[in-house]
Amino acid sequence: MRSYITHLECTYCGAQHKHSEVMKTCPECNKVLYARYDLEGAKASMTKEALKDREWNLWRYFEIMPVTDPAYAFTLGEGGTPLLEAPKLASRFGFERLLVKDEGLNPTGSFKVRGLGAAVSRAAELGVDTVAMPSAGNAAAAMAAYARRAGLRGIVAMPQDTPSVMKAECRIYGATVLLVDGLIDDCGALIKRGAGSAGWFDCSTLKEPYRQEGKKTMGIEIAEQLGWRVPDALIYPTGGGTGIVGIWKAFDELEQMGLIGSKRPKMIVVQAENCAPIVRAFNAGARHAERWENAHTVASGLRVPAAIADYLILDAVRESGGTAITVSDDEMLHGMELLARTEGIFASPEVGSVVVAAQKLRESGVLKESEETVLVSTASGLMHTELVQGDSPVLNKNEPNPARFVPTPERRSQP
Ligand SMILES: *Cc1c(COP(=O)(O)O)cnc(C)c1O
Repeated sequence: MRSYITHLECTYCGAQHKHSEVMKTCPECNKVLYARYDLEGAKASMTKEALKDREWNLWRYFEIMPVTDPAYAFTLGEGGTPLLEAPKLASRFGFERLLVKDEGLNPTGSFKVRGLGAAVSRAAELGVDTVAMPSAGNAAAAMAAYARRAGLRGIVAMPQDTPSVMKAECRIYGATVLLVDGLIDDCGALIKRGAGSAGWFDCSTLKEPYRQEGKKTMGIEIAEQLGWRVPDALIYPTGGGTGIVGIWKAFDELEQMGLIGSKRPKMIVVQAENCAPIVRAFNAGARHAERWENAHTVASGLRVPAAIADYLILDAVRESGGTAITVSDDEMLHGMELLARTEGIFASPEVGSVVVAAQKLRESGVLKESEETVLVSTASGLMHTELVQGDSPVLNKNEPNPARFVPTPERRSQP
């Protein structure tokens, strides 16, 4: 197997750059770089037939991934996550078919491993020795894990008040955790300074060209799991937007390789009511999103006030005939509980937003009953137990009738 990567191309000014050097954003206009491939060559080797014998991890689609030497294709068994039917939610919301791409089953519990698995592996191949990023959430853990896997030094800058589970995860992988008396932007500025003075490689969202390559594997998997076709709609909790632009890029490449047709799902962005720069720009008909001041939401993955890929996200939404909507924090928590209670999937609050968005879009008629819809469940809920309320009875160990402590059962629904 070999990668058919040919060069990097700026998504904004079109300038071409060598992929064999460590690159960040476009040196000419400072916008997002994309990896480009010889898709004719890739097509001949990444066939439906050939894929049948390959493992389900990030490197299943090696021909259209950026690592060129398989020795640097580091894996922790990420990817290959199930595309689950959600029949109870479907009938509750009024869909014929609703599916959940359960990314919570990934190592470290989130889809962030796809992006960082690709970026860290490629950085290692290009000779980087230290990877660094600002993050208060899932990205930090994912980077720390792959830095270890690839034998690199990992450095994470986090706001001081970051939940202890995130700090613990980074520390156990041996990353250096810098706690900052400030906000995530301040952490970003510190990493940038370290990158300048000590040569750390900054893995921030879309500030290097390869995280989106990892994230695009979600789109490829969805198409492959559906028998090489795309759904009618795809609902995605959007922060920096790597996932949505990666999935969009994947569909383009798959079409050029003859693996899918020209149909695209409606790409639907969901953001938090108090941090919705992309939704605001979408509604205003703008190509760029202005910074959202005083952003706050329980969903740290959605707490991104300014996205460097704003134009790429908005293009995907518009070209696909999709839309962009907001959900409040209370609604997210409700969505999280609903997904767990109906389908047995414990996901993060970001995912709760997508569940509620699906319901709202059905109620408003934006999505039709017949439109097969995929909810991207970006992370597990296990890092968010603090958001789950509830009391449990304490029983005397000799209690003769434990059944009296159990509420009357709900009627068992048919499978
Ligand atoms: C990072 C994150 C998001 C946002 O993803 P982007 O691809 O950066 O838009 C959504 N959900 C969770 C759980 C995340 O960690």
